[in-house]
This record gives sequence, structure tokens and C-alpha cells, in this order.
Amino acid sequence: MPFYVVQVAVPVPLRRCFDYLPSAGEPEDTWKPGQRVRVNFGQQLLTAVVVGTAHTTDVPTARLKPLLERLDDAPLLDASQLALGRWLARYYHHSLGEVLELMIPALLRRGGALQEALEQSWLRCPTAHDETPSLRGKQQQALWQLFQQRPVWVHAELTAQGFTLAQLRRLAQLGLIETQQRLPIPATSLRRRDDLPLNDEQQQALTQLNQPRQQFRASLLEGITGSGKTEVYLQHLKQTLQQGRQVLVLVPEIGLTPQTVQRFRERVDVPVALIHSGLNDRERLQAWCQCRDGSARILIGTRSAVFTPMPELGLIILDEEHDSSFKQQDGVRYSARDFALVRAKQANIPIVLGSATPSLESLHNALSGRYQHLKLTQRAGQAKPPGMTLHSILHQPLTFGLAQPVIAKMQQHLDADRQVLVFVNRRGYAPLMACQECGWLAECPRCDARLTLHQSPAHLHCHHCDFQQAVPRFCPNCHSDKIQALGQGTERLQDELSMLFPQVPITRVDRDTARNKHAFDALLEDIHSPGKRLLIGTQMLAKGHHFPAVTMVVVLDADAGLFSADFRGMEHTAQLILQVAGRAGRAEHPGEVWIQTLYADHPQLNLLINDGYHALALALLQERQQRQLPPYSHMAMLRAESPQRHLAEQLLQLARQFLQSLSAQHRAHSTSITPLVLVGPFPAIMERRAGRFRQQLQLLSDERTGLHAVLDPLVDFLHQQKGFHQVRWHLDVDPQDTL
Ligand code: ADP
Ligand code: ZN
Ligand code: ZN
Repeated sequence: MPFYVVQVAVPVPLRRCFDYLPSAGEPEDTWKPGQRVRVNFGQQLLTAVVVGTAHTTDVPTARLKPLLERLDDAPLLDASQLALGRWLARYYHHSLGEVLELMIPALLRRGGALQEALEQSWLRCPTAHDETPSLRGKQQQALWQLFQQRPVWVHAELTAQGFTLAQLRRLAQLGLIETQQRLPIPATSLRRRDDLPLNDEQQQALTQLNQPRQQFRASLLEGITGSGKTEVYLQHLKQTLQQGRQVLVLVPEIGLTPQTVQRFRERVDVPVALIHSGLNDRERLQAWCQCRDGSARILIGTRSAVFTPMPELGLIILDEEHDSSFKQQDGVRYSARDFALVRAKQANIPIVLGSATPSLESLHNALSGRYQHLKLTQRAGQAKPPGMTLHSILHQPLTFGLAQPVIAKMQQHLDADRQVLVFVNRRGYAPLMACQECGWLAECPRCDARLTLHQSPAHLHCHHCDFQQAVPRFCPNCHSDKIQALGQGTERLQDELSMLFPQVPITRVDRDTARNKHAFDALLEDIHSPGKRLLIGTQMLAKGHHFPAVTMVVVLDADAGLFSADFRGMEHTAQLILQVAGRAGRAEHPGEVWIQTLYADHPQLNLLINDGYHALALALLQERQQRQLPPYSHMAMLRAESPQRHLAEQLLQLARQFLQSLSAQHRAHSTSITPLVLVGPFPAIMERRAGRFRQQLQLLSDERTGLHAVLDPLVDFLHQQKGFHQVRWHLDVDPQDTL
């Protein structure tokens, strides 16, 4: 047998594949791309993925290491997944091993077998008749009834209902059921609901989406909150299901509520699988396997669900496409939205992006004709869009941060037994704690940031690095006892509103009160109970939820986002304001939104309130074009951080010099390459975080290819730099956050 090596992708930053020796006598054709193997790498034992075999290698034979174990006989990842992995690796400039790791569930990443997804189940025997006189006792009969309703049950489901192993064995002895290790079937709902009759706009959107032939096409469904986008998705995806294809539905982290899932399950009679951060590793693997073997026909999931294998995928729907949770903020900083588009293109299937407030990137693509542009401008059913009022608080007396006319309005709504939502995007009691005598401020020792005061339990907390300390009784600087909480967080607002409206129940929703799913569900239940109520919430409450009784929304601190140093600041502020506003008047009662501001004549804020998001977005696009910012140019950000200020900066200076000489070379060889614009290195807005100094270098280019051409050499260059082992760096392609 001729000599050969197996080439594998190892989950390490080095962007190349590694050669390993198969065991003696193993035929070359037992190795297939996509199989997992165990390898020794440095001092570590890692799970890697086979990409091929070769008859030559650069590694001296004596230094070749043996492959330890093959974990799959059939490839775990198929050719199309490997191709997508290659795209990810190329576009985000990471190693193939690192991106393939994203595509594999944690249990399998650690070397586990697919069988770990199986569960002991009981199946009705095909030969069993419904009538079985030999059953003794009510319990056995009840058990048999279940198998008449549904032929397969997971063991744990039955024991949860109080049935015992002995009862199950008895039915098995009678030849009625048998046991098997199998993949549980994804849940379906027993309740069915009919499609709603669509209004004209919805019908038109649906007709445009339902194309006769399955092929790649991206559509942007731009519809105001409550316009019935979800209803359009639900009716559209039925066509795909009828064609025998699977559907992938991606939602933001915060949007995957029981309400959403229920709504999907009640409309389709196919199994629906879920993937979200609340699953444990085994549940995640099960959902992954259910999609891979086709038993799940719909997958609803958050960001990472975009990698789930679905061999019969026929449609991708991505709701709230502007949401920043679609962009991963560590490791491989991929955008699930952008990747979903690539995936749809590869599979040659349609993709629908939906939003009330589309990102300027997607809007630009729709306006330029790259995406089909569908609009829903009216609320569905009887609901009317809320009226929006900008209320100037300049030189106005405020009670607990609220202006008198706003309080009077709130009172009216509460008197009518309605709910009022007060939005303040800051949790804790107060964002600042200061000494009145000497001006001392409670600061985080590890970050360039102030500590937030919390009251229950009382402590000072850094929201950036999690540092915590007790609340001082005396100023550490001048020993005065006149230290004071400044500003207003959700906790404080709750205290204060309970003084202003003592008879009104208050529900506060933020990361402290909604610590887990259970606590969150309990809060939602309160909100859905009848009667007047004040809701206080951060953006947790702003997204994805349907609160029929809310008729007034108050936005307390919209100003914070108006003057952000981030070029996307205004876009994100507008999106958030409209998301919150969208909670008002979603049922039969009209709603109103009051936005308190010091800048009531802010032109863009007025454009948003008077002419709507679309008008503002067009203005912002014009501004972006003038400033040559995305989507009119392409951006990457190189970030570095180190315990000493100068090291991170030094590395980025070297990177800058390298890039300058590289683009000079490029220009010398070709006139077509547009110049690369480099900004920085400059310190991040919060330069020190968790004890590390942060620097960044921004790269901008008119052409995507021009930008990407320098990124690979840049990453290689950075890997080669010596003396910077204390510096952590990463490259962020299409960064969402530029602060
Ligand atoms: P969006 O996803 O755009 O926010 P939804 O699809 O959630 O909107 O619809 C908002 C509300 O309007 C829901 O309660 C939904 O049941 C209702 N709705 C949607 N379409 C219709 C329709 N054609 N007729 C009546 N009610 C509708
Ligand atoms: Zn002091
Ligand atoms: Zn901190």
C-alpha cells in the first residue's frame, strides 16, 4: 500500500490543515472528509475533522504523529457543510478547524457519539389491536390508551405521568409494545388554529413570496410592529412544507418566547425542533440530530442554529434581522444573518429577512434591487399604530425623572384600567454613586467605568467586568457621610413609581428580576393578568412580546443614544425606540408613546417621530454615503488588549505599518485596487476593561475584495509577531460595535 497521510482541520488558530499518520494497513478509502478523529496536538488531545488524504507531506516522516482514533464511520459533516465551513473560515479569517467546531454540537465536539442523542422509548407493536381484554387495572388501560393516541413515547415522559416500569413490561409481555433506543420525536401541539384571513398588504407580500420554483432569492419584509409579519411567515412556510422541504426560522436571542413557539406549533402539523441557549448539551444534540435526519421539519432557533444540518432545507426566515444578537461577539465573530444568506444561496433556496426597523445594510440591498422589497405599512386586525409625542424636559420640573404632563397621562391610562410601560435601559438602582462634599465617584478598579448601585441586595456592581463590592457608608476620600445615588435605574424607578402611584401593581423586568426562564415566565404571567399595572423594563421587555393591555409607553432616557460616538448610534437608538413603542396599543385600544428628551428639536429624532423609521433610514443612508461608511464601504476592526497600555498599541502600530506597505505593493501591481483607509490605532471609548487596556485599528475599503485581500496576510503577520504574548488580539469583520 502506498504511503499516505490524513489531512485534518484542528480547532486551533493556525490557519492550515495538519497531516497525521493513519494506523498501518488502514486503506486510504476509509477516510472521508467530514469524519471526526482524535489527535494529539501539542500537549492537548483534540477532536478534529478529516478534510482529505495526500501522498506527500512537508512534515519529515519521523515527526508525523499517529491519528489516535476515528470517531465516525460515515462523515458527520457532509460536503455542503464543509463548503460552508470553508466560506466562514475565508470570510472571517479563522482556521477551518475553529469554524467547523461552531458547526458541531458540544457533545460531539468533545468526542461523544451520535448515539448519545438516543433515549429509551416505547413503541406500539404494529400487530397490536386496540381491543385488549387481557389488561388488568385502570393504570394499564390508561397506559395503553396513550399508545393508541401516539405510537411512540420516551420512557421519561411515561414515568413523569406516574407509570411504572412494571406496567410497561406487562404491556410488552402481552406483545402490545416494545422498547427501543431512539431519537425522541420533536414536539407537536395538539391544538390547531386556522390561518387568519390576510389583509391586502399581507396577501400581496405572500403572493410575492410564494414563487412557483424553489430557487435563491432574498426578500426583505419591512413591516411595522404588529403589521402581521409573523402571519405572513406562517402562511408562506406552509408552501415549503407541502413541497416536502424543511424550514429554518431564526429569531433573536430574546425573541424565542413560549408564545412564539406555540404560535408556530399550532399552525403546522409537523414536528418543530428548537435550539436556544437554554438547552443542555444533550437536548441540543437531540435537536441537531432531529434536523439532520429530517424528523424535525421546522427548526426555530437563535444565532447558532444557523449551522444546523437540514438536508431538505427549502426556506430560511430570519425575523428581526436588524437585531445585534445575530452577530457573535467573541471567538469567530460571525453574523448569522450574513451566513444565512450564504447558506440560502448555496442551497439555492429563498430567504426572507423581516423587521420593522431593518438594518441599513439590508435596506440598502433592498433599495438597490438585490433583495425583493415587501412592505407592510398598517397594523393587522383592528389595532392602530401608536401616536408618538416628543416631550421636551428642558427647564421642566421633574418628579422622579418624569414630567408633569407625562404623569398626568399615565394616571389617565391607569384610571382606565390599562397598563403603562416605562422604558429605562439601565438596570440597578442608580448608575452613579457620588460624594457631595468632595466629588468622589464610585469607580470600578478594573475598568474605566462607574459602579452601578444596586439595592436588593445592596452592593456596587460593575456591569462591564462583574466586579462587586459593599456600599461604603463614608466617602473613602474625605470620610463625609454625604454620599448619594445619582441617576435612575429600574430598581429606583420601581421604588419611586410605587410612591407616585401607590395603588398600582408594578412589574419590573430586567436581568435582575428575570434571572432565569422560570422567573421570566412568572413575570410575564403577572403582566398578562387583568387590570391596571405599571411595567418597568429594560430592552428585555422591548422585544418580541405581545402585551395587549399596554396602551401607553414612556421612554425615559432616549437621549443617551443620540450622540453616540458609534456611527450606528442613531440607527440603533431609532430601532430601540420603535421596538419599545411597538409594545403600545397592540390590541383593540389605541396606544400612545411619550418620549422625554432634552433635545426636542433634534432633527433626526423628529424625522423618526413624524415620518417614521423608513424616512429616517433614508436620511441616515445618505449620511453614510457621504462619509463612505458601511453599507457604502466595508469595514474590519482589529482589536488588541493588554495589561500594559503600550503593548496593545505597539502591536497595532506594527499592524498599521504592515498594512500600509502591503497596500502600497498592491497599488504598484494594479491600478484597480481602491486605497485602504486606516483609522487608528486609537483607544476604545472605555479604554480599560477588566484590567486590560484596549486599542483598535479600523480598516475601511470601498471594495470587499480589496479589504479581504489584506486580511489574510495581516492575520499571518500578527501570528508571527514575537514578544506580544501578553496581548490578546482579534479581527472583527463587519463589526457591529465600533466603540
Ligand atoms: P408582527 O410579526 O409584524 O409584529 P404579528 O404577526 O405578530 O405581527 O401580528 C400582530 C397581531 O396581529 C397578532 O396578534 C396577530 O394574531 C394579529 N394578526 C396578524 N395578521 C392578522 C390578520 N390578517 N387579521 C387579524 N389579525 C391579524
Ligand atoms: Zn468625599
Ligand atoms: Zn469593571
